Amino acid sequence: MTRILHRSIAAALPHAVSGQGVYIQDAEGRRYIDGSGGAAVSCLGHGNPEVLEAMRVQMDHIAYAHTSFFTTDVAERLAERLVRLAPEGLDYVYPVSGGSEAVEAALKMARQYFVEIGQPQRRHIIARRQSYHGNTIGALAAGGNAWRRAQFQPILPETHHVSPCYAYRDQRPDETTDAYAQRLAAELEAKIIELGADQVIAFVAEPVVGATMGAVPAVPGYFRLIREVCDRYGVLLILDEVMCGMGRTGSLFACTAEEVRPDLVTIAKGLGGGYQPIGAVMLSEQIYRAFADGSGLFQHGHTYIGHPVAAAAADKVVEILSRPGMMEHVQAMGERLQAGLDATLGQSPHVGDIRGRGLFRGIELVADKDGKASFDPALRIHARVKKEAMARGLMCYPMGGTIDGVHGDHVLLAPPYIIQPEEIDQIIDRLAGAIAAATAG
Ligand code: PLP
Repeated sequence: MTRILHRSIAAALPHAVSGQGVYIQDAEGRRYIDGSGGAAVSCLGHGNPEVLEAMRVQMDHIAYAHTSFFTTDVAERLAERLVRLAPEGLDYVYPVSGGSEAVEAALKMARQYFVEIGQPQRRHIIARRQSYHGNTIGALAAGGNAWRRAQFQPILPETHHVSPCYAYRDQRPDETTDAYAQRLAAELEAKIIELGADQVIAFVAEPVVGATMGAVPAVPGYFRLIREVCDRYGVLLILDEVMCGMGRTGSLFACTAEEVRPDLVTIAKGLGGGYQPIGAVMLSEQIYRAFADGSGLFQHGHTYIGHPVAAAAADKVVEILSRPGMMEHVQAMGERLQAGLDATLGQSPHVGDIRGRGLFRGIELVADKDGKASFDPALRIHARVKKEAMARGLMCYPMGGTIDGVHGDHVLLAPPYIIQPEEIDQIIDRLAGAIAAATAG
């Protein structure tokens, strides 16, 4: 008997009772290797003593102080650390309590920016199909995932969507990578012109797509072209790094690898590493100045923004992530994971694509490898893989969805960065068993 309205009502969930390193143990004594960091959250694994101590110390000082009365040393320290480590041009931090809140705040910041600078006519947000930017109404509206949106469509604010950068399915056989990137940039430009050259607020995208397609990086050059299009029409570029940021792809900020300068970046998940719910928006000096020299306020706010204990956890997490060798370890373990997946699953008739960057890897499952035909959605292959993986003591993050009539089953792997080679091998072994069982017959 449960009194919680769980995400999936029929599912009988095991009770997690302890976590240590890359393992979680349930009440029956079963141990699971956390191959997905929950949902790409637990970047330092479970039970990290330094993070727990930082939280304890902060709680002994003060656990909560409302941000309309006070700031705190710990929140200021976190902001300073993030700005120091971020790509150039991200100069300020707006701390929130999670990913959806970060996206909501970024959207409102972008809109208010144009009000502040005398362009209040701008009212459109453009994002990409098959994207996920959170579950609150504004963030859900920005997302282009038809299944998640469907029943809430009547109450979602209007947003606009263009094609994702999804080379496995959408790059034409006779098309070079450059030509593909140019086609997508031209599509964005056409959408901006259709909506009105001075009517668009922002374009929102994940540098490496997580929760809808399983670790899909953009093709090289895509984001540089997108930036050029945005600049041509004064459109802000919001990069959503809620899932792919904070070292997940082998650099603290995923956009570093794209060599692109965003106006706003959202971060969460790995920022608190699961120790506390926390997220943030990072913004440029230009946006900050518009607020500071204009109305003097950002017309937004939630009760728990800048929460001191959450800030203490995040400050320690980010400090650990920035230590020498940490990102190199993520890159090395990521390469081992990719190589192992390629060797073990690459020839599987039901594995269409294995992709990703750093410790952020996705596997796309198909009914027919050559034709890339998807499985019948009714089979819920992704859910079967999750069940088979749990039975083998592995947590992996499954996704299934339909985009423009094409269904996809994906599995996301996003283990903690402290993972060791033998644990990577264990993940691959268990996942291979789970996929074989889920796709058999
Ligand atoms: N943005 C992206 C890219 C995400 O992957 C997610 C969650 O998976 C969110 C936003 C929403 O974050 P949260 O679940 O913390 O609200």
